[in-house]
Amino acid sequence: MICEMCGKEMASLLPVRIEGTVLSVCRDCARFGDNVKAGGKPGTTAEPSVIQARLQNRERRMKTKDVYEGGEESFELALDFPKRIKDAREKNGWKQEELAAKMNERVSIIHKLESGTMHPDDALIRKVEKILDIKIKEKVTIAAVEKSTGKKGMTLEDFIKKK
Ligand SMILES: [Zn+2]
Repeated sequence: MICEMCGKEMASLLPVRIEGTVLSVCRDCARFGDNVKAGGKPGTTAEPSVIQARLQNRERRMKTKDVYEGGEESFELALDFPKRIKDAREKNGWKQEELAAKMNERVSIIHKLESGTMHPDDALIRKVEKILDIKIKEKVTIAAVEKSTGKKGMTLEDFIKKK
């Protein structure tokens, strides 16, 4: 697990409330916030400069991560791939047998694909996409999660600046 404030790799993290936001942080950073488990007992008076320095580090890390993950697009099989295949086949006016023949596959494969009981491997995906002229894979948005975490850092930092 990684401390959300300083980024240190820790065996365990403590949930603390820092300026109204709950973060999972290491023991070292926990002293800057209120221990959530202890029922919001006031923490030690935080030194704003120290908090700000740590949050800026965090911000930088988040940005690096965003860029990295943004540049690495991941494509996964679409959840509705059976419908996409069936719709495209019917649009072409093909029977399952005809599609199977064009793909050089057994008709039972088409049955399984269209009922979603079989997930095609990459070779079969490419074949389906080429013959039916459709896409059955779609971009996965892993980066979105990281971005919202990054925004939390912005809010914290903005808050401290206003002080
Ligand atoms: Zn820490």
